Amino acid sequence: MQHFPIFVALAGRRVVLSGGGEAALAKLRLLMKTEAHLTVFAPAPAPEIEGWDAEGRLRLVRRGMEPGDATCAALFYAADEDAAEDARTAAIARADGAMINIVDNLEDSQFITPAIVDRDPVTVAIGTEGAAPVLARAIKAELEARLPSRLGMLARVGKGFRKMAEALPFGRKRRDFWADYYFDAGPRAVDGVEDGDARDSAARALDDLLARHLSEEQAPGHVSFVGAGPGDPELLTLKARKLLDAADVVIHDRLISPEILELARREALMISAGKEGFGPSVSQSDINDLIVRHVSEGAQVVRLKSGDPTVFGRLDEEVAAVTAEGLSYSVVPGITAASAAVATIGQSLTKRERNASVRLLTGHDMKGFADHDWKALAKTGEVAAIYMGKKASRFIQGRLMMHGADPATPVTVVENASRADQRVIGTSLSALPADLAEADLSGPALVLYGLAPRAAEETVTLMSQQEAL
Ligand code: SAH
Repeated sequence: MQHFPIFVALAGRRVVLSGGGEAALAKLRLLMKTEAHLTVFAPAPAPEIEGWDAEGRLRLVRRGMEPGDATCAALFYAADEDAAEDARTAAIARADGAMINIVDNLEDSQFITPAIVDRDPVTVAIGTEGAAPVLARAIKAELEARLPSRLGMLARVGKGFRKMAEALPFGRKRRDFWADYYFDAGPRAVDGVEDGDARDSAARALDDLLARHLSEEQAPGHVSFVGAGPGDPELLTLKARKLLDAADVVIHDRLISPEILELARREALMISAGKEGFGPSVSQSDINDLIVRHVSEGAQVVRLKSGDPTVFGRLDEEVAAVTAEGLSYSVVPGITAASAAVATIGQSLTKRERNASVRLLTGHDMKGFADHDWKALAKTGEVAAIYMGKKASRFIQGRLMMHGADPATPVTVVENASRADQRVIGTSLSALPADLAEADLSGPALVLYGLAPRAAEETVTLMSQQEAL
């Protein structure tokens, strides 16, 4: 983040602008929404500026800027639309101690003005650090359409009602009440009502709404076991998104990417129940207790697990802990690492005439390296997605070769599948441990036994065709 967004209190402060054309007008229209004391320096001002001066909304000085003109100014805008003049005025203002903005010159500006959605006192500022003004405008248009047009008025009325709303218990109940007011009952109450009566109408809606919410029973706690997918936030389900949006408590695995955690409701209590194959971890029974405690207290809990919660996720133990206490739960599937990894290499998990079944294996279990039906897996064409297989690769290789697997069987390891730092290592059963050691993977990795990246496979086919010729 190159620019840190803040809201500056400008009431009673001095703001100086140099310029009298289109750029100056655009900035002044925004600045006049504040209670700043505006001074404009312009030898040839647009008629609008003269008008605003006459109305006393700003002070117009009909000459170019000179040293000392920006003394005590909080902000300065260079808006002459002339690089040399802008540089001159900006240097003066800088020497006078003001923070400067040069219109359309990101590099030499100390601050920039965002695109603004104005529902005073609710203000949304959108910035792209100059990277994509078109995008900022598109987001602004979308928000303008989405936010009730009288949101500002509703917020002012709502502010006076905050004490009353404390009759509702803190947390979800109170939050639901306000969401209902701002996005449903409030806009409905003022829809089509004239400005003069709208405030009374909104205040009445608040009274009714509070009575209704006070008489409702608090919904019981609930836990959703939610799959967060392999890491790319765009691979979350809509359901996962919604639940994260509404959660009181999020208990998440260590593997969940920060971008996904960002999506949780700001006020949600975030608990990292870090579990790591071989590293420090929170014990399973502590995690179970944590879930049970929060659900019993009436919270909407999201138990966020990487990939799909039903794949090597110890879901059953957590569900058993919850049902033993008579608490309610639901499971929301996610995209498992195997799906993400094969998507990355352009392959299918199953393929006609190659493999009619696929195995999801774990490299190690509670007792150490996990044993499997190696003999069945060693047959030609078999495919397995091996989770937690990094450390077990030599063991897996040994078992498979012992049962007659072809040492040339393709193996692909996908690290950080679907994430920005994903890596693909195409290897073979015989070279797997050595290639893995050399790759020195630090992220979660999925071993795809029996599959090569599609591009590599095509090269091989091509080569054998050439040999045939
Ligand atoms: N429930 C998860 C798996 C949890 S076990 C799922 O459905 O994906 C943890 C293992 O999953 C890791 O050791 C790794 O083998 C695999 N894994 C999880 N995320 C991954 C990713 N983004 N890329 C590759 N492998 C991943």
